[in-house]
Amino acid sequence: MPALFLGHGNPMHALLDNAYTRAWRQLGSRLPRPDAILAISAHWQLPRGAVTAMDPPRTIHDFGGFPRALYGVQYPCPGDPALARHVAELLGPASIDQDQSWGLDHGTWSLLCHLYPDASVPVIQLAMEASAPPSAHYERGRQLAALRNQGVLILGSGNIVHNLERARWEKDPQPEDWARRFDGWVKEKIAAGEDSALLEPETAGPDGTLSVPTPEHYWPLLYVLGSRKAGDRVSFPVEGIDMGTISMTGVLLETA
Ligand code: ZN
Repeated sequence: MPALFLGHGNPMHALLDNAYTRAWRQLGSRLPRPDAILAISAHWQLPRGAVTAMDPPRTIHDFGGFPRALYGVQYPCPGDPALARHVAELLGPASIDQDQSWGLDHGTWSLLCHLYPDASVPVIQLAMEASAPPSAHYERGRQLAALRNQGVLILGSGNIVHNLERARWEKDPQPEDWARRFDGWVKEKIAAGEDSALLEPETAGPDGTLSVPTPEHYWPLLYVLGSRKAGDRVSFPVEGIDMGTISMTGVLLETA
């Protein structure tokens, strides 16, 4: 299976038909259909490792102040408790809780409702350990790479550039220069296979600090890059910067 990172941005994309959601729908119809999906969302960080083990997972509306219709969205996919146990084994010796309380947050379902609208593929979510350094998130991706040979799609959901404080809510604002530069820098490093440069976004200077003011939307990319296999073909199936400061860039790793 491929490994895929997508920028989710504004949760309202779940209800919209635009260039981003059309690109997600195209991806879902052209990629091989997975037996299961392991999602790593920017919106689930915990003090220790956990993976959702309930069947089915509930749809969590983890946001405030959006239109009522968004709270009505359900993504009624099955869970996969056996896969959750397998993920915990792969991540050993770290202790990974089999979680019964979370579910799928909007980082996961706002993408999956476009990628796989019929919600028939089982989905589990892996929590990110909040205090872990970037290298540990990358290493987890490496430990999970075996899943790609077992029919599992690894889906990282965040945003390469995510600065909400400077986001602009008017229609189609121009991307900030620093956002465009950092997004381009990350794509260049990914294409060149220089993953180690990507662990610390601040090494890109002020562009990196402005683009990644907090790390949680950036980290899911590191899981996907960690699962990269020698010879994988890299492409960027979604591009664009929403609200001036939110990169919607997608990264697809496919077996050549
Ligand atoms: Zn988000």
